[in-house]
Amino acid sequence: NKHLSFFSASFLCKYLLFSSFLYDNDVKDVSLCSCQIFKDPIHGTIELHPLLVKIIDTPQFQRLRNIKQLGAVSYVYPGATHSRFEHSIGVAYLAGEILKSIKEKQQDLGITDWDVLCVQFAALCHDLGHGPFSHMFDLMFIPEARRLKAIKTVKDNYILY
Ligand SMILES: [Zn+2]
Repeated sequence: NKHLSFFSASFLCKYLLFSSFLYDNDVKDVSLCSCQIFKDPIHGTIELHPLLVKIIDTPQFQRLRNIKQLGAVSYVYPGATHSRFEHSIGVAYLAGEILKSIKEKQQDLGITDWDVLCVQFAALCHDLGHGPFSHMFDLMFIPEARRLKAIKTVKDNYILY
């Protein structure tokens, strides 16, 4: 799942970063971009860069609206109904705040606004690759799929040679 998440996220980021959007809008200075405002239930008013909003507006990201962050936990805790959509936006916001703080306090690191934005991309996309039932999928389905693939590979090689 981690590989799938990373692949999905990195593919989406590369697509967006190298798409004509950047060139059409001549985004040179990240800090000067007009950000969009979101009302986050935990963090209040937050601002996100237009490129992050481009990701949020994709069908792949919008799909997260229909996935509960805590699965069946809401059957025990009725208020625990937030989705992966709002979770991911909150994670992107917090990741950005952490990196901005490091950038300010450790200026010798040379962290740029682009670095902050890239970390926010990664944070925003970190849950896009989850399979059905999320971590249950990681713990039960993927190991079994790998085991079956290994058996199939051995059989295929046996037939070939
Ligand atoms: Zn997450």
